Amino acid sequence: MADSCSSAPAPEPVESAECINVFWDDGMLSHEMGKGVFDTGMDPGFLDVLEKHPENSDRVKNILSILRRGPISSYISWHSGRPALISELLSFHTPDYINELVEADKAGGKMICAGTFLNAGSWDTALLAAGTTLLAMKHILEGHGKIAYALVRPPGHHAQPTQADGYCFLNNAGVAVQLALNSGCEKVVVIDIDVHYGNGTAEGFYQSNKVLTISLHMNHGSWGPSHPQNGSIDELGEGEGFGYNLNIPLPNGTGDKGYVYAMNELVVPATQKFEPNMIVLVVGQDSSAFDPNGRQCLTMDGYREIGRIVRSLADRHSGGCLLIVQEGGYQVTYSAYCLHATLEGVLNLPLPLLSDPIAYYPEDKAFAVEVIQSIKKYQNDVIPLFKGS
Ligand SMILES: [Zn+2]
Repeated sequence: MADSCSSAPAPEPVESAECINVFWDDGMLSHEMGKGVFDTGMDPGFLDVLEKHPENSDRVKNILSILRRGPISSYISWHSGRPALISELLSFHTPDYINELVEADKAGGKMICAGTFLNAGSWDTALLAAGTTLLAMKHILEGHGKIAYALVRPPGHHAQPTQADGYCFLNNAGVAVQLALNSGCEKVVVIDIDVHYGNGTAEGFYQSNKVLTISLHMNHGSWGPSHPQNGSIDELGEGEGFGYNLNIPLPNGTGDKGYVYAMNELVVPATQKFEPNMIVLVVGQDSSAFDPNGRQCLTMDGYREIGRIVRSLADRHSGGCLLIVQEGGYQVTYSAYCLHATLEGVLNLPLPLLSDPIAYYPEDKAFAVEVIQSIKKYQNDVIPLFKGS
């Protein structure tokens, strides 16, 4: 593996990266989950015009095109993907669960859990998403590049070792983190800014002190049997992993200033204490002001600043090594723009490359500050790593 991602002291910070290595495969367009999930499901339906399922291929088509034709295109180096092997999936998931998915695929598909449909083509797409994320991590581990973005779907961060959840079948980031650990990385931090709790990734490493999972999400709580976790601040990990899962449930309406405050008050200090050798940014644009599935108010400015903060953590701790993994984000226009802005921040560019086409959202930082300070006090009181902070 690359020296830069080993446990050796990190080199001096660098000012900006030359490029972002984007991993993508067109096969990931071959999964659709129908339409109409926003209708009530009552018979007869009330709506004549049914939207596509929010997790549809249009989302990533726009992300692809903005990376190809947007001003960031000259900073992008493109790479193809590949399907994951079953043996690679078993580093995170149980054999029984993987068998369930294989059998569902053979049977022509089924609803795996609420709102999550494995249809014809879905399983091959899920394998591509996991394998492509593994390739992106491998690219970094082998020293071919420092920053990689796995542009993948279906998303993965709700997929737990034993079950699917929230449009996710396989935990793409989870298998990549496990690959990093197996390759000699001693400590990995996962920073998840998708608007939903990254419960699957948290669950996979809940008893590990080698992976610090941090999730910023809206305070949605449990949403049923597929998502029993609450995402509350007291879900801290177990055994050796106690204190290595940090949940940051943010009040609805938290915007750019609130998110940046949470990053600087909670995420940056925790990451500095942990001293990771590898950083994984799990990014969802459903934290944006216009997302149908989220109630937060990030704009391009906020995503750009989060990208910049995470980049500075990578420069400080992991020799600049940073894997970015795509998760949710369901407003097909704004998601692409917010992803563009995130990568501008990661590149540490001095000025924005793109202006915001739609955003202005008034926000009140005061309530977010109050909540973030109470989370900080709780963590400092309870978590051994933070005692005396
Ligand atoms: Zn989400």
